[in-house]
Amino acid sequence: MSEPKQIVIVGASLAGLQAAQTLRRASFEGSIVLIGDEPHFPYDRPPLSKQFLAGAWEEEKLRLRAAVNPSELGLDWMLGVAATGLDLDLRTVALGDGRTVTYDGLILACGAHARSLADHPPGVFTLRGLDDARALRSALDTGPARVCVIGAGFIGAEVAATARERGLDVTMIEAAAAPLVRVLDAGAGLAIAELHRRHGVDVRLGVGVNEVQAGADGRVERVLLADGSAVEADVVVVGIGVVPNTGWLEGSGVSIDNGVVCDSTCLAAPNVVACGDVARWNNPRYGRLTRVEQWDNAVDQGAYVARRLLEEGGVDPEPFAPVPWFWSDQYDRKIQLAGVTGPNAEVVNGSLDEQRFVQLYADDSGRFVGALAWNRPRQAIQARQLLEQEAGLDEARAALGG
Ligand SMILES: Cc1cc2nc3c(=O)[nH]c(=O)nc-3n(C[C@H](O)[C@H](O)[C@H](O)COP(=O)(O)OP(=O)(O)OC[C@H]3O[C@@H](n4cnc5c(N)ncnc54)[C@H](O)[C@@H]3O)c2cc1C
Repeated sequence: MSEPKQIVIVGASLAGLQAAQTLRRASFEGSIVLIGDEPHFPYDRPPLSKQFLAGAWEEEKLRLRAAVNPSELGLDWMLGVAATGLDLDLRTVALGDGRTVTYDGLILACGAHARSLADHPPGVFTLRGLDDARALRSALDTGPARVCVIGAGFIGAEVAATARERGLDVTMIEAAAAPLVRVLDAGAGLAIAELHRRHGVDVRLGVGVNEVQAGADGRVERVLLADGSAVEADVVVVGIGVVPNTGWLEGSGVSIDNGVVCDSTCLAAPNVVACGDVARWNNPRYGRLTRVEQWDNAVDQGAYVARRLLEEGGVDPEPFAPVPWFWSDQYDRKIQLAGVTGPNAEVVNGSLDEQRFVQLYADDSGRFVGALAWNRPRQAIQARQLLEQEAGLDEARAALGG
């Protein structure tokens, strides 16, 4: 393809805005249409469960830097309107208000939404966007509230920590035997449980939720658990994972399977690329389809796909092969994961009990694949560099042990 004249980006958030910014930095002078179904200019999500929920930050501070002056990048902003369909042959995106936008290049950056309970009374919240965060913060402000968090993933655990630090009574319920088993190993997951218990959270593990019941006023009153116990609650936060926003692409010809399926260069269809939480691409570093729900990945992949689109038809693009990187702040702990976890975990610095440690992960063949660092930011960055250099386990032990 010759240089595209009009690039359309669906999803006006972290990955989409990063893509737009990268196109302009690469001197792309054509038109860029940024379509977002939220009415807000792009904002940062990580503070929603941390500083914003704590009441320490106000909304102005959330705006992504590249959107502080919205006219600066010369974008055609289409906010508050959803993309509802894609025609690959005609190269058009249909919008919820009846309009159609034509593209030469299309970037899918439409993220994911929070999974919720099928049916629930008022007082039950999820946390994905600014509107969710506003509603939850105002429910916590109304206090004194008893908060019940269903699901001890990163979002649930962060909400529990922030609510606890606001002085509220918090119960956190997890159906699995340890928090965060989807992301971490069981030992580290149990260390998260211990961290919360030390801060006074009632952590219930290995028990599911049967029902969320309303009181006489119609609002949530208690959560009934599968072991027959009940948790009295004024506010319930459901943190049971996310679902990629792919509904609007059904039937378009783009392959959908737990995200938009792409090749190792994030190409989903001719002239169509995907990035951020919605993209499921073949990361050659791990040799498998991967979808990553992490801030750094959204930034890096947004930038990568922008360059990828401009290069299409030219040189063979390098695959997108990052070392994943994630952080979470809970109480006074900074929890950072470089790479991925593996079946073999080994603490090489500090201890889980101290809640200050570095743990290395190796795969079945003994290859160093990841490192988890708690309040060890320097070693976390070092671990990321070692993974990028494909260092061996011994080298990582020597560098990160203490
Ligand atoms: C509360 C919270 C805390 C987090 N904390 C951390 C953290 O500590 N560390 C970390 O690494 N990551 C964290 N994350 C994850 C990180 O924020 C995400 O990985 C990142 O936001 C993904 O960016 P994205 O642009 O791919 O998707 P999103 O940010 O989900 O943006 C997608 C946008 O597309 C819009 N959209 C969807 N469908 C359509 C459509 N059909 N038409 C138009 N627009 C559409 C959505 O409404 C949304 O605005 C956190 C996320 C949340 C919610």
